[in-house]
Amino acid sequence: MADFDFDLFVIGAGSGGVRAARMAAAGGMRVAVAEDRYMGGTCVNVGCVPKKLFVYASSYREAFEDSAAYGWQRAESEFNWETLRESNANEVARLNGIYRNLLANSGVTVIDGRARIEDPHQVVVGEQHYSAERILVATGSWPFVPDIPGREYALTSNEIFSMADFPERILVVGGGYIAVEFAGIFAGLGAKTALSYRKDLFLRGFDRDVRTFVRDELSKKGIELHFNHRVEAIEKQADGSLLVRLDDGETMAVDTVLYATGRVANTVGLGLEKLGVVMHRDGTISVDDNFRTNVHSIYALGDVTGEPQLTPVALAEAMALVKHFQTGKVTEIDYNNIPTAVFCQPNIGTVGLSEEEARNSGMAVTIYKSEFRPMRHTVSGRDERTLMKLVVDSSNDRVIGAHMVGPDAGEIIQGIAVAMKAGATKAIFDQTIGIHPTAAEEFVTMRTPAT
Ligand code: FAD
Ligand code: NDP
Repeated sequence: MADFDFDLFVIGAGSGGVRAARMAAAGGMRVAVAEDRYMGGTCVNVGCVPKKLFVYASSYREAFEDSAAYGWQRAESEFNWETLRESNANEVARLNGIYRNLLANSGVTVIDGRARIEDPHQVVVGEQHYSAERILVATGSWPFVPDIPGREYALTSNEIFSMADFPERILVVGGGYIAVEFAGIFAGLGAKTALSYRKDLFLRGFDRDVRTFVRDELSKKGIELHFNHRVEAIEKQADGSLLVRLDDGETMAVDTVLYATGRVANTVGLGLEKLGVVMHRDGTISVDDNFRTNVHSIYALGDVTGEPQLTPVALAEAMALVKHFQTGKVTEIDYNNIPTAVFCQPNIGTVGLSEEEARNSGMAVTIYKSEFRPMRHTVSGRDERTLMKLVVDSSNDRVIGAHMVGPDAGEIIQGIAVAMKAGATKAIFDQTIGIHPTAAEEFVTMRTPAT
């Protein structure tokens, strides 16, 4: 038996890497983790956590406005970007420390620096060489920005949380999770906000009713939505502002352009090509059911292996991998019915099939839909609505899709996802007694099919 420095060397202390390192060490493996930027990875530093804090920050404007009808006087306020930026930085620093301690307390050796794989059992960080029986690549993903003239003036989610000045006018480019979330954040914080998407309707892959509903709700909040719209170039003006040239010949003057046009696997400089590790055409690493690459001592999981790029998926994969190390068995992950939320305002929460996916796969479905004004706004007078939708397999009454746009949709859909995992039928939903008065109770009181 070869004598290795470590049983497992993890590259990347993000969602997947930290979980795998901690669990493996807890199970008795000798584990090292190398991290070159930030403890906790994308989610903690420039992803889920700061994003959610910024969503909270952006929600106060409407809360102040809505409070008047409830009797609160003079609730107007002024937003200060520096305060939010600092509060966020403090919280992220706190979490960085927690992650470092979690690793150290689990007995994991933490190595600060950029790692490269030298051979199937050897990792190099700086000048130092480490041998390991197994190497896990958990290096995540990185923002992709198309190669247009002036690309260097665009920001991505990596920079947006710490930018120096709050923009009066911002253009968000893209039509996925990040674009929609940040359009909501900046509009809420008070910037004149526009979103540019290349096709006819954003949020591709989500239920069409959800997509049109969110389009209408964002428009009501004053976000300018430009669909079938492509950015051709960005030019810096003498006053420091940016002139965006569009493919229809129009121009747009803004202070900040945020690109949210997807993320690519973070494999640059890892040495995978030299080792012959097989990658897909989009740059993600190809792995088998045990997260093993074609080079048998090298494993990969999380964003670097492709979609869905979500923290709970990376965590689940890490747990499954460590279980596999411990038992030798395949621990299959069910990638069906992964619930997800988009933290635009109002939020989207969704699990299972969209109506289109179900119909396109040839299923006969019954649709239940409810649209209403949230109770809070019956008094505030705000013109915001909530959508709830169930997709039911007509052949067996199983609920196969649940979709919501409304306050706390993510919180509500998490519970529905459990019911769907258990195979709940629409009859079971109907037998469930609601909690009154909530929006969630609507999911158990929809009786009349929409189609
Ligand atoms: P990461 O968390 O990205 O970790 C990879 C780590 O590897 C990084 O710390 C990186 O510095 C390090 N690394 C890379 N190369 C090397 C190297 N050569 N040597 C050493 N270290 C290296 N998901 C959700 O579920 N919910 C959300 O609300 C959500 N919001 C998001 C918002 C934004 C703006 C973004 C960008 C992402 C969001 N995500 C969200 C996605 C989520 O952050 C990712 O799916 C998750 O972080 C992936 O985990 P990972 O372990 O694969 O990679
Ligand atoms: P997405 O894949 O969600 O969306 C990318 C968007 O960019 C799509 O609208 C796509 O258009 C568009 N696009 C792609 N290439 C180009 C191009 N060359 N020019 C113009 N537009 C382009 O990526 P995001 O960057 O929004 O987020 C990355 C991932 O991070 C998400 O998919 C998600 O997994 C994760 N995430 C999760 C969050 C959550 O759970 N709440 C929040 C934020 C991120 P088209 O649709 O036409 O392909």
